[in-house]
Amino acid sequence: MIISIASGKGGTGKTLVATNMAAALGEAELVDCDVEEPNSYLFFPDRDLVESADCGLPIPIIDDEKCTRCRICSEFCAYNALAVFPQEVLFFKELCHGCGGCAIACPEDAITEGSRAIGKIYRAQVGDLGLFWGELNLGEAMATPLIKEAKKQASGDLILIDSPPGTACPMIESVEGSDFCVLVTEPTPFGLYDLDIAVNVLADMEIPCGVIVNRSGIGDREIYRYCERRDIPLLLEIPFSRKIAELYSWGLLFSREMPEWKDRFVSLADRIEELIG
Ligand code: SF4
Ligand code: SF4
Repeated sequence: MIISIASGKGGTGKTLVATNMAAALGEAELVDCDVEEPNSYLFFPDRDLVESADCGLPIPIIDDEKCTRCRICSEFCAYNALAVFPQEVLFFKELCHGCGGCAIACPEDAITEGSRAIGKIYRAQVGDLGLFWGELNLGEAMATPLIKEAKKQASGDLILIDSPPGTACPMIESVEGSDFCVLVTEPTPFGLYDLDIAVNVLADMEIPCGVIVNRSGIGDREIYRYCERRDIPLLLEIPFSRKIAELYSWGLLFSREMPEWKDRFVSLADRIEELIG
């Protein structure tokens, strides 16, 4: 079972939910796909780092001797990563998505495959809990190949995916293939606006979803009315609590410090399993 934890909006408590759920369940794998700023592993200071590996993206290497400047490769590249001039072929590595199509399109076999490092993948273990995360190199924009690679590392029966915020490519890559997506939101107009976008994205991807309202008690009741209207299950409410906020700011998991919450996160996983059917 693959459960992703996402939110249309940043700062709603996605990592709070993902880390506490993982700690409560124990026997699971948690993949932090927020590769621009992975932080879920920080909540497990007792982790043992098992391995780290470079993650590379395939890039074209052009043989100047063989190249006839026919421009087929630059016309093929949908990302404008190649520009052919009479004297040379310019390659803009930041734009290349590593699809390999230009090498296939080249009639002169002038393109071979190289690789460029975009980040690192880490694996750690805390008891029965496996932790995986990707970390993008500074200044690197290609998040999705690293997310794909981080996801590939997990292979257990229960995988939790901590998705990046928003609803752009990194979020879509993260939730792709999930059996269920938990959307964490807050009961404010901003929360509702971004939740609606995320719900529509998941509907397009045919991924069932449910909502956790974080910081419940603030804002208004619109989120609740929205869930009723769209027939989206309300899975859990986490109150706006000073104690929970303080524990989080100290890097502590409230499901470990407040045992009643451990039970609630275990029940949450059971409820999701029932919903998936
Ligand atoms: S398709 Fe091949 S031969 Fe044509 S310009 Fe590109 S690299 Fe050169
Ligand atoms: S590998 Fe794909 S994205 Fe990169 S330059 Fe070639 S066609 Fe463009």
